[in-house]
Amino acid sequence: MVKTKPRAPAIGRPNIGRAKRPFAIDVHAHISDPMVGKFIRETAGRTGGGFVTTSGVSKAMIIAQKRHMDYVRERQRDIPLRLRELDAMGIDMQVISSSPAAGCYWAEGKTGLEMAAHNNDLVAETVAKYPDRFVGVGTVPMQDVTLAVKELRRCVRELDLRGVIIGSYVEGIELGDKKLWKFWKELEALDVPCFIHPDGFTHPQRLGKYYMWNTIAQPLEEALAMSSFIYEGVMDAFPKLKILICHGGGYLPFYNGRADMGYIARPETRGKAAHKPSDYFKRFFYDTVFYDDKMLEFLVERVGDSQIMMGTDFPHFAQQWNGAEFISKAKRLSQQTKERILSKNAAKLFGIRL
Ligand SMILES: [Zn+2]
Repeated sequence: MVKTKPRAPAIGRPNIGRAKRPFAIDVHAHISDPMVGKFIRETAGRTGGGFVTTSGVSKAMIIAQKRHMDYVRERQRDIPLRLRELDAMGIDMQVISSSPAAGCYWAEGKTGLEMAAHNNDLVAETVAKYPDRFVGVGTVPMQDVTLAVKELRRCVRELDLRGVIIGSYVEGIELGDKKLWKFWKELEALDVPCFIHPDGFTHPQRLGKYYMWNTIAQPLEEALAMSSFIYEGVMDAFPKLKILICHGGGYLPFYNGRADMGYIARPETRGKAAHKPSDYFKRFFYDTVFYDDKMLEFLVERVGDSQIMMGTDFPHFAQQWNGAEFISKAKRLSQQTKERILSKNAAKLFGIRL
C-alpha cells in the first residue's frame, strides 16, 4: 500500500449573497495551458477535437472551431470572468481539469510527461489562488505507464490534486489492456478517482463532417472504455478503483440489453468479466453532461443517485446550457437526490468539505 501524506480537504464556501439553494460542485470543467494547446496544434496538427485533424475537416468548421476555442481559452485565462459566469450559473465550486489531450498520447512518453506536467502545474496554481472555488485533478502520459504513475504520484502527493483525467483510448491501447494495470493498481492504492474523458474518436473520416466526432462518437468512446474495463477484468481485479465516466457513461448505461444478452447467450464472449456488464454499472461514477432530463431520470434509476454528479463541461456550451439548473429543475428527482448530485457525491469523491 502506498502511503500518502494526509490531504486537507478543500473548503467549500457558499457565495456571499447567493440565493438559498443547495451547494453546487461542477465535476466536469476544463482549464488548459495555452502553451500545451499550441504545441499540440503545431506539432500534431490536431484541433480541439483531439483525433480530428485539420486535414479532414472543412474550412468553415476550422474557422468555427477556432472561434469556439477562442471563447473557451478566454475563460481559461481570465479567472475573474470565469467566476462571474459561475456565480451567474449558481455554481459554487469546480473540479478543474485539463483536456485529456494534454498527455499527448501520440508523442513519446517524455514529451507527454512534459506537457501533462505543465498543465498540472497550472491547475495546482489556479487552485492555490482560489481554494474556495476550485479543486483540481491532473493528467498523465498514459503512453508510458511508468511515467504516468510517476506523475500521478506527484499530482496527489505534491500538488494536492484530487485525482486525474485521462483519455478513453491510448493510441491503439484500450484502457483495460494489461499494459496499463500498473496504473490502475496505483490509483487504487492512492485512493483517488480517475475521470475518463474521450478526445474525439479514432475514425475522423466518417465523423468529421457534422461534428459527429463529438455528438455521436464520444459517447461510443465512453461505452468502449467502460466495456474494456469490464471485459478485461479491471473492475474485478481492482474492487476499490474509482472511475468517473463523463457524459453519463455514453451509450452503455442506456443500451445495455444487447451487452447482457451477449454475455448470457454467448459465454465465450465474456472475457474476464465475472458478471454480466450491467452488474458493474453501480461501480462507476457518472457526470451529467448529456443535456436530456429523461436520461437523467433513467440513469438515477439504473445506477442510483450515489453514483452521479453534476458536470457542465465549462467553458464549452456555457452560453447555451446551465448544468446546475439542469439538476435543480429536474421534475422527477427528490430534493435529497438533487443535493447528492449537485454536491454531496462530488464532495465525497474529491475530498471537499461542505
Ligand atoms: Zn469535457
